[in-house]
Amino acid sequence: MDDHIERGGIPRKFECGAPTIMLESKTAQNPGRRFYRCGKIYGPNHVFMWLDEAHHEELGILEVNKQ
Ligand SMILES: [Zn+2]
Repeated sequence: MDDHIERGGIPRKFECGAPTIMLESKTAQNPGRRFYRCGKIYGPNHVFMWLDEAHHEELGILEVNKQ
């Protein structure tokens, strides 16, 4: 088992078809904080979700103005 990866509520793929990946934040605000994101594109309408918040089984999709 991958004990470092939470299971449940985390789809392996999203609508764009790219696999979800888990990374570790390097920012000063969130040092070492793990998050999921779209494995292909980092940007609007692709998944971004903090691992700890994923426990709430909600997906955070970056929202922007759609043109
Ligand atoms: Zn994507």
